[in-house]
Amino acid sequence: MASLWFERAWIDNRWEKGVRLGIAGGRIASVQTGVAADSDDEQHRAGLPGLCNVHSHGFQRGMAGLSERRSRPDDNFWSWREIMYRFLDRLTPDDVAAITAQAYAEMLETGFTRVGEFHYLHHDASGAPYADVAEMAGAIARASAATGVGLTLLPVFYAHGNFDAAPPSAGQRRFLNDIDGFATLLDASRSKLAGDANIGIAPHSLRAVAPCELGALLEMSPTGPVHIHAAEQAKEVADCVAWSGARPVEWLLDTAGVDERWCLIHSTHLDEREVPGLAASGAVAGLCPITEANLGDGIFPAVDYLAGGGRFGVGTDSNILIDAAGELRALEYSQRLAHRARALLANDESPFVGANLFARAVAGGAQALGVPAGIAAGHAADIVTLDLDHPAFAGADDATLLDRWLFAARSGAIDSVWRAGVKRVEKGRHVAADAITAAYRACLDRLLA
Ligand code: ZN
Repeated sequence: MASLWFERAWIDNRWEKGVRLGIAGGRIASVQTGVAADSDDEQHRAGLPGLCNVHSHGFQRGMAGLSERRSRPDDNFWSWREIMYRFLDRLTPDDVAAITAQAYAEMLETGFTRVGEFHYLHHDASGAPYADVAEMAGAIARASAATGVGLTLLPVFYAHGNFDAAPPSAGQRRFLNDIDGFATLLDASRSKLAGDANIGIAPHSLRAVAPCELGALLEMSPTGPVHIHAAEQAKEVADCVAWSGARPVEWLLDTAGVDERWCLIHSTHLDEREVPGLAASGAVAGLCPITEANLGDGIFPAVDYLAGGGRFGVGTDSNILIDAAGELRALEYSQRLAHRARALLANDESPFVGANLFARAVAGGAQALGVPAGIAAGHAADIVTLDLDHPAFAGADDATLLDRWLFAARSGAIDSVWRAGVKRVEKGRHVAADAITAAYRACLDRLLA
């Protein structure tokens, strides 16, 4: 059994001193606190649980930076989506594996140890299913295996182009299934999973899924995570009201049985009844603040939602910039800009913003991906260490360590990352970064030539 020893480690939302973790079979076998290091312990100064990334479209990493050119006066989410559809048009399974592996390596380097892959690119370039219908799920599983990141696969059901079962567009042909086809895909996807990978379902959005189909999906997958995009865009909210008389999150809360299994991705546009309603449901809001800023989506009402006990996790979504600390920083900064005040996502019991956000994101992220949260015996050995020699930590006491990481560290604050007990990041770099990035570069050079 391997053993790690930390001067301090973040356990049950506080720093414990003198922590030794026994690791066996990819899991934490034992936790001791208040102990001195043994000579054969690998020693580090500050250990954290890895974060769950609740929302990723891995292939979109390959188009990061390609949609920042102004092409028309009303550039917005919908014009970005057209660029995204053109990018994914030609991707092969090997392309998806190479691009996604780069994204997953970057996730590990920033402190994400498990990813919820919201996977909708199912079919070949013509829109026909591959001979193996889960070929693309297999590409994602390969990226997970190549990098070591934990995988929660969320196969997406996508059938319509807009509310009221509008026909899909040509750009959506690679996403489409009927209910029977999706059942086959879900079964085939299960066979791609290895290690402690798990699977949920992702009805794409109320735009793409009719109510009767949503019911069939929930019957098909009675346990495990349920993820859905909801209320990302003001137009989507208006279209939903025109269709049903209700807003998207309102409709889901009233109709779909939203509970702890659910993760409502974005939930950006909530009214004063939806905020407490979503908080009381026990579901997780899947916030992607960097992508939401990049796409001009809007600002999630985090101050009221957290004050009401709402749960959240963070996701990197479009993977325009992969940075666990950056997502939490962007979340707090969005609130500061909106409210013209500081230190908003904290409270009297947990007054340090960094510690409060990190603790909540660890718990909410794990819930959303259907795994236990934090450092404890029996949990996966998903551990991140901070490099306390980084200048951002100079003179730090324990109380401000997480604030310094989230708000002040730029890059280089993370030293090592273990995922399922295997050290995947050393000195801030993925141990297979050279090969992963070479394959990624070759793929993009070919795609963008
Ligand atoms: Zn998304």
